[in-house]
Amino acid sequence: MPTPKVTPSIEDAVTLARYPFLPQASSWIQNLALDHEIDLEELLEGQWMEKARQRARIRLIDSIESKEGVAVVGGDIFTEEGRIIEAFSFYYARLVVFASEDERLISRWAQAEATRAEQILTRDSENLAKIAKTFISQIEKDEQSVAPLQSSNQASVRKIRQSQDGSIWKIGLADFIEICPKITGSRWRLANNQVSAGKVTLFNEQQYSSSAKLARLLRERIKQHIEQEALEKMKNIDMELAMRLAEPVGMVRNLMASKASEAIALVGAEESDWPPCMRNIIAELTNGVNVNHFGRLFLASISAALALPAESCVGFFKGAPDFKESTTSYQVKHVYEGSYTPAGCSKLKLNHNCPVLPGDDRLCDISWMDHPLKYIRATQRWKAKNRQAEVEVRPDDSPIDGEQTNQTEVQDSVVKPAES
Ligand code: SF4
Repeated sequence: MPTPKVTPSIEDAVTLARYPFLPQASSWIQNLALDHEIDLEELLEGQWMEKARQRARIRLIDSIESKEGVAVVGGDIFTEEGRIIEAFSFYYARLVVFASEDERLISRWAQAEATRAEQILTRDSENLAKIAKTFISQIEKDEQSVAPLQSSNQASVRKIRQSQDGSIWKIGLADFIEICPKITGSRWRLANNQVSAGKVTLFNEQQYSSSAKLARLLRERIKQHIEQEALEKMKNIDMELAMRLAEPVGMVRNLMASKASEAIALVGAEESDWPPCMRNIIAELTNGVNVNHFGRLFLASISAALALPAESCVGFFKGAPDFKESTTSYQVKHVYEGSYTPAGCSKLKLNHNCPVLPGDDRLCDISWMDHPLKYIRATQRWKAKNRQAEVEVRPDDSPIDGEQTNQTEVQDSVVKPAES
C-alpha cells in the first residue's frame, strides 16, 4: 500500500494512549515500561498490571462480540495511570492475539480496533491530519473549498456543507483506488467522485462529513497496519510465552467457537465424515510413522473441534514411535483446553499433511474446499440430504446406489459454506 515513508511526529501522551496502534506509540510505550519498571513478568502476572489485563480482556471480548468494535470509552487517559492502563491493555491484548496464531482472530481484532479508531477520529479534528499523514501518502486539507453542487436543491446542499467542520479533504488517487474496493456503497466508487490534479475530493454530505469520510478510509489502512504487524510479530512468540498466555487465548477461542454455529453442527460427526488428511494421519500413526509436529497438532485440534473424547485422541497416537502416554495426554489436554482452530488445507498441504492429489477425492477437488472442517460439514449435509431423499423416494428401505453417484451429488447439493 502507498503509505508514507516518513510519519509525522506525535508526542502528546493523551493522543498516543488514545491511538496505541500508531507506529509513533511504540517508543512511547517502551519508555513507559522503563520509567514504571513494567517488564513481561509484570505485564503477564503482576498486580500493578491487573487493571490493564482486565481492560485487555474487554478489548478482546468486544472484538468478537461487538459489531461496533472495541468500545470507545476506556480508562481516563487524562491521568498518567489511565494512560498506562490503556497503553498496556492494548499491548497485552496484542500479545494474546499473537499467541493465538489464529488469522481469523487477528483479522477480527484488527477490524475492531480500527473501527474504534474511526469513531474517535471522526470527532478528533485536532489529530485527524497527523494520523491521516501517518497512513495515507497523499492527503491535504482545503479549508476554503466550496463543494460543487450536485443536486437540484443546490442552495440547501451548499448550506449544509458549509455547516460541517469547514474542512474538505483531498486524497491521492492511488490511495483512493487502493482503499475503496474494500468499502461498499456508491459514494466510494471512483466514477462518482470528483478527481482533479491526481486527487479525489471527499465532499461533505448531509449525514457524512468530509472528515468522517477520511476517518472511514483511515479505518481500512489502520486495520491493514494492525493486521500486518500482528502477522509479522506472531512468529516471535516462543513456546513458553504461548503457554503462559494459554488461558486468555483459550477464553478468546472459546468465545469465537461459541459464535460459530458451524462448531455446533460439527459435534457428532461420524468417522466416515472425517476428511482424508485426518484419516491419513491416524493411519500413519497407527502404522508407526513419525508424523510431523504440524500433523499432530492438527489431529489434536480437529479432534477437539469434533468433540471427540480426549482419551480417544490420545489413543490415535499410541502407535507413534515416540509415544508416551503421560506426555501425549498432557499435550492433548493443552490443545483441548486452548481450543486451537484446526489448520486449513493450504497449511496442511504446505506441511505435507494433505495426502490427496487432484482426482483422488472429488470433494477435496472442489474449488471452495479450503478447510477440513468444511469437508466434514459438506459430508454431513450431503448425508442429511440423502437420508431425506431416502425417506421420500425409498419407503421400502432399499439401499442407496454407489459412491460415484454420491460424490457427484456432493458437488451439486452442498450449500457452499463461507465462500465469500
Ligand atoms: S484437500 Fe483439505 S480436506 Fe482434503 S485432504 Fe487435503 S487438507 Fe484435507
